[in-house]
Order: sequence, then C-alpha cells, then structure tokens
Amino acid sequence: MTIETKTTIQLSDLTTVEFECKNCRAIVSWPIDVAKNPPTVCPCRTDQPWMVHGGQQFVEIVDLIHLLRKLSKADKELFALRFALKTPPAVAQKL
Ligand SMILES: [Zn+2]
Repeated sequence: MTIETKTTIQLSDLTTVEFECKNCRAIVSWPIDVAKNPPTVCPCRTDQPWMVHGGQQFVEIVDLIHLLRKLSKADKELFALRFALKTPPAVAQKL
C-alpha cells in the first residue's frame, strides 16, 4: 500500500504576506489584512531594488494581495478553494 501525503492550503489559511531577500535573508512581512504595497528594496542592497515602485510587478503584487484578502473572506461560498503544495518525493511512503 502506498500512502501519499498531500498538503493543501486554502485562502482563509493565509495570515501573512512575506518577502525574503535572496541576498541577506532579511524578511519583511505584514498581516494580510493590512498589507498593501510590496517593499521595493532591501536595506542590504539599496543599489539593486527588488522592483520599481508602480512598475508591472509591483502592480501585480498589489493586485494579488488585494485579491487574496478579498477571496480569503469569501466564506459564504458553497465550496472551498485550495492549492496543493509541492511535495518532495521522500514524503511519499510505502507501507
Ligand atoms: Zn537583503
């Protein structure tokens, strides 16, 4: 018998929006209820901004945060919307 572990997340599970610098690992996070604009730069490398304020990626992240916040409160729906997380092969176990 094979058992597969599947981890899913639904929008109402989301609590925080987090950005991590790939250079210094600094994390900037906000509760999803108050998050608005993504950070555009990490203090470790101000000469290499993460994104342009008002640029396409900035606008898309703003829109995504807004959409996630809105849909995470849509608990009157008759269905649950979930996303499955990628599972490393080692998690699947054979019994
Ligand atoms: Zn950094």
